[in-house]
Amino acid sequence: MSSTDVAQRLEQVHERVGAACAAVGRGPGEVRVLLATKTMDVAVVRAALLADARLRAAGSPTAPVLLGENRVQELVAKAPDLADLSPTWHVIGPLQSNKVNAALRWAAGVESVADHSLAVRLSQRVRDRGVPLDVWVQVNVSGEPTKHGVPPGAAAELATDVAALPGLRLAGFMTIGARSADEHVVRAGFARLRAVRDEVVGSGAPGTRDARGLSMGMSSDLEAAVAEGATVVRVGTAVFGARPAPGAAG
Ligand SMILES: *Cc1c(COP(=O)(O)O)cnc(C)c1O
Repeated sequence: MSSTDVAQRLEQVHERVGAACAAVGRGPGEVRVLLATKTMDVAVVRAALLADARLRAAGSPTAPVLLGENRVQELVAKAPDLADLSPTWHVIGPLQSNKVNAALRWAAGVESVADHSLAVRLSQRVRDRGVPLDVWVQVNVSGEPTKHGVPPGAAAELATDVAALPGLRLAGFMTIGARSADEHVVRAGFARLRAVRDEVVGSGAPGTRDARGLSMGMSSDLEAAVAEGATVVRVGTAVFGARPAPGAAG
């Protein structure tokens, strides 16, 4: 994919998000776009970051895009080559405890916290660094067994425990929407995540006040997510094109 294509596609994604916001009376700056960079070359990610900066220089009201990586190996391979542009990286895939140190060299946030032991490990690693680490609790709203995340019924308790750990700032909740062609099913899952968020923030438990974030919606379902209150949408293929099939050569 050429830089021009990436720039055009990124602009289209910002337009989709803007239109989805307008449709439900939300402001265009209320939803941030995170670019899911898995399998993508540094050059194409750089093109997207530069295109995003140009859009804002030209008056776009959107906040700078975030970058998200699923695999720590890819994060540590790409981040140094993009450091001159100072992007904000989030980990958006399952994080093994032996990869925490490597991830934290680059990531300002971890969206995929689904168990207490990972949160404890993160807390231990960051408590001395002064700046809190933003964490999201990943919830498996669809119940699909292939999906990472805590079940909705256990999410509030995990979130409250995570929020109380030193060095961590509970920033919100993340989910991957149901793999369904039925928009009602997809939206119901996103509404479920919002309900978990409202329960936790409303509890008044220590450290939960900032947990208003909802990272939900991807290339195919971002409109439904924005309608249900997403504050971050995570987009890969809509900007970068199709990824190579798993196992494909190259
Ligand atoms: C790949 C990925 C995305 C983006 O998916 P697209 O369908 O390509 O937009 C979002 N979130 C997570 C966790 C991902 O792994």
